[in-house]
Amino acid sequence: MPAPTPALPGYRPRPARNKLQDLVEDNVEELFRTWDERFRKDHGPLHPRLEDLFERFGRCGDPHFGFHRLRCPRCGEEKIVPHSCKARGLCPSCGKKRAIAWAEGMVEGVLPPVPFAQLVFTIPKMLRPHFLWDRALYGALSRAAYASTLEFLRAHFPGIPGAVPAMVIAPQSHGSLLNHHPHLHSVVSLGVFDRRGAFHPAPGDLDFKPIEEIFRAKTLGLMVERGKITGERADLLRSWRHSGFQVDASRRVEAGDRPGLASLLEYMERAPVSLDRLEVRSDGLVLYRGNYHPGLGTDHRLVSGVEFLALLVPHVLLRFESAIRSYGAASTVIRRKLGWIREDPEAGRRAPGAPLPEGEESGFVKVRRKNWARLIMKVWLEDPERCPRCGEKMKVLAAFSSPAQDAVIEKILRARGEWDPPWLRPRPARGPPRGGAGGQGRPPGETRIQFDEGYDPRREEWEVDRDFEDGPSGE
Ligand SMILES: [Zn+2]
Ligand SMILES: [Zn+2]
Repeated sequence: MPAPTPALPGYRPRPARNKLQDLVEDNVEELFRTWDERFRKDHGPLHPRLEDLFERFGRCGDPHFGFHRLRCPRCGEEKIVPHSCKARGLCPSCGKKRAIAWAEGMVEGVLPPVPFAQLVFTIPKMLRPHFLWDRALYGALSRAAYASTLEFLRAHFPGIPGAVPAMVIAPQSHGSLLNHHPHLHSVVSLGVFDRRGAFHPAPGDLDFKPIEEIFRAKTLGLMVERGKITGERADLLRSWRHSGFQVDASRRVEAGDRPGLASLLEYMERAPVSLDRLEVRSDGLVLYRGNYHPGLGTDHRLVSGVEFLALLVPHVLLRFESAIRSYGAASTVIRRKLGWIREDPEAGRRAPGAPLPEGEESGFVKVRRKNWARLIMKVWLEDPERCPRCGEKMKVLAAFSSPAQDAVIEKILRARGEWDPPWLRPRPARGPPRGGAGGQGRPPGETRIQFDEGYDPRREEWEVDRDFEDGPSGE
């Protein structure tokens, strides 16, 4: 029998709402209403589905919008764990959970125990705006980065036919001040795998600099091919001595340093906004701190609430936008070929040769589901499945979702004395009053903008891929 868990040092209970959720609630309506005239030119398109995503984020962690109900088998204590939004690129807590889960899954189940290098690929300013308007370019840029790395490493191992590195690439659209800054973070094995899966290490002091040249050629090629720039513009960029293409390879991770690799991967997949650096001042302005940005000439942003949300929009990922990609000996196809994926119950049911959905890792998914409670604990320093009274592991009784089970949700919360729905809560006034219709007393389920006929935002699953199921029974 486990003893009651003592309060962990640094314990912080999950806050009911965070600053960013308040900002969204207060400003999202104005954001949508004024996007075209105020923000579209600099911040790109505003996908109509973002409305639903912002709304889900506003409900993240609030039991009035759904929860799992748990009961202790030993002492009968009950508790509820609110549902989370999984809004990618938007929700800092879901983002952190996701990053930890992903990094752990990669280190435990995908990346082989060899040394790795971090490669960061950047592109010239002139090319960046195109990524605002065509996000498919991130995928193309990732493939160009892998192809460049592959070409470079194969040149080092000419005697090994079919040599591949293990590489994972995570595109990032933001800089530390939420500025639009498309670039790629990646880790790549410091060496290659042959067709039998044997590792051939590269020299420890391998100079990755020559990749820059290859990456420049491939990226300019794809931009011309996709009609983003003309051949003349590409020639101009080729002629520059400092082309703006950069591949930084300053960080290495030793083979035995798996925690180091995990924290590097976590960093690669982090959400754009950090709540620690966000402050809503008494005058209603938002102060956001970051690293000094030479182009902007500052290390912070001081903007209105709606301007702050506008900064975020280009970084929020829609469901169909798969961000991270695995290549070579980190890809499912090659790992299966090499016999590195041992059991896959799905494999028998899949037609031979049928392509795997991108990012699918069946063993990985199981690890994620199994570790739901542990991940929450890692993020919140609180074990959601542990009985607060006696320390026993609690059992999930049921899950309740809004709006289908709103009546039951209200009944349970009232019985627990926790019924305090946000739409009845007074919101503190912040900043100058907004024009137009106020959105504060809004009941749940109301949609503020018109969608195309037949489009039901509730049918969209916002969790971007199934690998990151969040509850014991999903939601
Ligand atoms: Zn969330
Ligand atoms: Zn108990």
